[in-house]
Parts: sequence; C-alpha cells; structure tokens
Amino acid sequence: MHIFEFIRPADQTAAIATAAQAKTAQQGADVRFLCGGTTLIDLMKLNVETPARVLDINRLPLDKIETTSDGGLKIGATVRNSDLANDERVQRDYAVLSQAILSGASGQIRNMATTAGNLLQRTRCVYFRDTAMACNKRETGTGCSAITGSNRTLAILGTSDHCIATNPSDMCVAMSALEAIIHVQGPKGTRAIPFGDFHLLPRDTPHRETVLEPGDHITHVTLPPPVTGSKQVYLKLRDRASYEFALASAAVVMNVDDGNVGYIRIALGGVGTKPWRSPEAEAALSGKAADAANFRQAAEAALRDAKPQSKNKFKIELAKRCLVHVLQTAANG
Ligand SMILES: Cc1cc2nc3c(=O)[nH]c(=O)nc-3n(C[C@H](O)[C@H](O)[C@H](O)COP(=O)(O)OP(=O)(O)OC[C@H]3O[C@@H](n4cnc5c(N)ncnc54)[C@H](O)[C@@H]3O)c2cc1C
Ligand code: SF4
Repeated sequence: MHIFEFIRPADQTAAIATAAQAKTAQQGADVRFLCGGTTLIDLMKLNVETPARVLDINRLPLDKIETTSDGGLKIGATVRNSDLANDERVQRDYAVLSQAILSGASGQIRNMATTAGNLLQRTRCVYFRDTAMACNKRETGTGCSAITGSNRTLAILGTSDHCIATNPSDMCVAMSALEAIIHVQGPKGTRAIPFGDFHLLPRDTPHRETVLEPGDHITHVTLPPPVTGSKQVYLKLRDRASYEFALASAAVVMNVDDGNVGYIRIALGGVGTKPWRSPEAEAALSGKAADAANFRQAAEAALRDAKPQSKNKFKIELAKRCLVHVLQTAANG
C-alpha cells in the first residue's frame, strides 16, 4: 500500500526529515517526492517503484521562473516543461532549452512534467520496466537482459558490463550544454551541483543514477547568464517524427567570430548512459574555422570512445551526422 501526502509549504522541513529516513534516494526508495507523476506513477503501476510514502510537493512555492541578479535564470523545481519551453526569456536567451523540451513527449505530458521530474526521469530500457526480466538497475546483481537482448535504442557511450541503458531526457541534453546548476535541499542543508556532476555513470552500481541522498529534494535549477550572440540549436533524430525518444540528439551553443569557432558547448542525447557533454568535440573545434571538415572532426572526437552493442552500431554514424548537422545549422545562424 502507498500512502500519498500533500506537502504544504509549512511542512517542507518535516517532509525532508521524513524522506531522510528512507533507505535510499535511488532505485527502490521507500519514500518518494511526487511532481507531475508522468514517470513515477507509471513505474508504480508496473511495480518497478514501490514506495511506501509518496510526498506530493506540487503545493510548494517552487513554480516560478525568475531572472537572477547576475542576469541568469532561476527555474523552480515544479515549473512545468510547457511553461519553461514557452517562457519568452528561455526562447530568446536559451533557445536550445526550449527546442529540446518541445521535441519531447506530447503537449499533454509536457503540461504535467516538471523541471525536477525531468532531471530524474528513468530509462526506457524495456527490461527495466518488466519485473519478469533480469535488470541490474532495477534489482542489483540479477544481470542485464539488454546486453544479449533488445539493445537497438540503448547507449554506446558510458556503458558498463552491468548496464547499457540510455538516459532518455531531451531537456537534460540542453541543460548540459548550457552548464546548468542543480540546487538541492536536504537534511544537511542546501547544495549546488554542477550539471555534469549530477548524473552518475552506471559502472557496477547502475541502480545509483544521481548523487542525491535520502531527504534531498531539488528546489531549482539555475542557468548562467546567456552567451551574447551565441547560436543555439537542438536536433533530435528518432524512429518517428513525434512522441518518441531520441536515437541520437545534439545540443550546441556556439559563437562564430570572423569565421572561427569561439565559445562552444556540445552535448549529445540518446547515445549516453547520462546526458553526454563532449569536451573532446569542444576541444576539437575551439578556435578552428567553422567549416564542414572541422565539424566532422569534432563529431569523430565526440564518438571516438563509442562502444556499440549487437544492434545499435548504426548510432555511431547517426550521432556524428546529427552533430555535424547541428553545427552547420548553428554556423549558418
Ligand atoms: C509517453 C511518454 C513519452 C515521453 N517522451 C519523452 C521524450 O520524448 N523526451 C523526454 O525527455 N521525456 C519524455 N518523457 C518523460 C517525461 O519528460 C518525464 O516523465 C517527466 O519529465 C517527468 O517529470 P514529472 O514531473 O512528471 O516527474 P515525476 O514522475 O513526478 O517524478 C519523477 C522522479 O523524480 C522524483 N522527483 C520529482 N520531483 C522531485 C524533486 N523536486 N526533488 C527530488 N525528487 C523529485 C520523483 O520522486 C520521481 O522519482 C515521456 C514520458 C511519457 C510518459
Ligand atoms: S541496460 Fe540497464 S536498465 Fe536495461 S536491462 Fe540492463 S541493467 Fe537493466
């Protein structure tokens, strides 16, 4: 049986204390925060998540998008994906984030889904959602059915012998390229986590997906001030035009000065076990001519360490072409 509780602002500290008693904040947590419910409730119906207590945080005052004193943006944890994508500051200054969110799910789901929930959405690996199948992420030590099974949509970067699941988020790819900071409140106080440090590689602990500890709840995300004059592009390649997760995607924030690449941030989606920032591709392009040959070099660098599975080798070339196309589009600005 699950106990659902609404958390009012006055109860926030008590709610954190309750959640802090949980065994874990990772897979199998016995206390869970609830936002839009588009991930959590699905997984509860499948018995993949079985929390004893569900703390609904929708009544907390975390639903604002505010300009920060340094000219950046503060995005509350419960801001709906639709509201974020359609905010005029986001569309003007962080266009890659708006594009990424609008490429995901459907209008109805985006109206429910929240910033924090999206950061913590779970893999779409079919075996993770099927309790009859072995899955190290769902149940430690049982094995990985995907390695010898259906792995066409799964990851080629950051995999381990224990898990090859893809992080499915579009929003996170853009936030990675924008160098967002995730703000957390927990039993030990508040902390700010750079985006690249938030999600974990699967290694031999695929059930641990983030650095969150029991009682931690995400309060907001901040974006640094916009990069003046930058071109921002997100492209998502998938099996059908809408309502489908990425096979490969790319987010780019780029400045071109006198034909040369200046500021450059690159992240990939659909191919990594976490949202995949590529410092290798950025280094390959920085200061170089913004031309097709260098864009291809950057794509080669980004996928150099790719390790395909039996059915997803095609993703290597797909991701390279995706990135080249995004860079070309941004350069043509
Ligand atoms: C049919 C379908 C298609 C989809 N397609 C796409 C797609 O193409 N691209 C894409 O990116 N996404 C897609 N999604 C996923 C969707 O974006 C996520 O389900 C959504 O963003 C999760 O947000 P939520 O608020 O509903 O999360 P919830 O389900 O409420 O929560 C998700 C997790 O986050 C935890 N949590 C929530 N808020 C907090 C907090 N403040 N602090 C700590 N923990 C918290 C919950 O405990 C839970 O573990 C799809 C989903 C569905 C159902
Ligand atoms: S890839 Fe990961 S999520 Fe999928 S079956 Fe293997 S361990 Fe489970």
